[in-house]
Amino acid sequence: MRIEGKHKCNSAYNECNHEYEWMVIIPQHINSSTLQVEKIDKVQGRIIEKSENKCIIRTICPNCHQDNVFEYLN
Ligand SMILES: [Zn+2]
Repeated sequence: MRIEGKHKCNSAYNECNHEYEWMVIIPQHINSSTLQVEKIDKVQGRIIEKSENKCIIRTICPNCHQDNVFEYLN
């Protein structure tokens, strides 16, 4: 499965403000019977922290190539 959304660049190093779509692929359970192949058609991010109701996600802005870290509410 995957989660996805829109994010506006919040880089502290410039005034980029570029808005882009991102996605994070959540690895399937190891004994999952069907292997879903996800197409990567957006900026790929990764989860750096996960709790019950939110994730902290890191992506690289495609415009200014700076790290963007933000919360995603489940
Ligand atoms: Zn940016």
